[in-house]
Amino acid sequence: MRLEGKRIFISAAAQGIGRASALACAREGAEVVATDVNIEGLRTLSAEDSRIETLPLDVCDGSAVSAFASAQTPFDAIFNCVGFVHNGTILDCEEEDWDFSFDLNVKSAYRLTRALLPGLLDRANQTGTAAILNMASMASSIKGFPNRFVYGATKAAVIGFTKSIAADYASRRLRCNALCPGTVDTPSLRERIATAADPVQAEKDFIARQPMGRLAAVGDIAPMVVFLLSDESRFVTGQAVLVDGGVTI
Ligand code: NAD
Repeated sequence: MRLEGKRIFISAAAQGIGRASALACAREGAEVVATDVNIEGLRTLSAEDSRIETLPLDVCDGSAVSAFASAQTPFDAIFNCVGFVHNGTILDCEEEDWDFSFDLNVKSAYRLTRALLPGLLDRANQTGTAAILNMASMASSIKGFPNRFVYGATKAAVIGFTKSIAADYASRRLRCNALCPGTVDTPSLRERIATAADPVQAEKDFIARQPMGRLAAVGDIAPMVVFLLSDESRFVTGQAVLVDGGVTI
């Protein structure tokens, strides 16, 4: 199995891409610690695969992250998956929206990575490789999209964060990459569609920008997560890896 012997941390694992990734990593033999604030979602995740350990963790709570990190044995790989899509232009983005998005989408990755880094470096030293994967998006420094002002800014920051860590730790064989999905059919996307002025048109618009004529499923994204957390990607670091069905061609 591709992740045999690996201990892997995942945030935002109760639903969407994080959940599909937790299940995919467990299927490949990893010991997965799946965290979220959605307790019911975590309960159904561990019911779906009893090999997955689920723990509540609010990634915006610095003391909870420190307590979590000190209670854990070292991880071989971490996937900072959490993120929120704020809809709107700069004029729709109040300072509190800016601060919330940067806290959840960027600072949470800083908190978790800083807290878990000593263990990751130990594992890299022992096994020859360890990995950090951060969730970015095609909406970032890669491409601008309408009404993704602060979201795009946060995901561009995630890519810069990723490259800086990759540069600092490549010589110690700790890799750091960013994942940049296109539009993925997840509960939060369904919420964005449902709350649009015209939900039927909103779904058509999302699909219309997909060269492959469909949204991504979480199952289109999870295999890349497995690859980037596994030793198969041991020579890949500092990359913003697109899985977007051709949107950015
Ligand atoms: P989602 O938005 O449906 O679920 C997000 C999860 O994050 C939820 O389970 C929620 O409980 C959890 N969460 C929210 N606040 C939290 C907190 N403070 N602490 C811990 N957990 C918290 O999932 P998704 O759509 O798969 O998105 C996951 C990631 O993928 C995000 O970073 C998102 O920006 C990114 N992404 C999504 C898409 C897409 O089209 N869905 C595309 C590109 C990137």
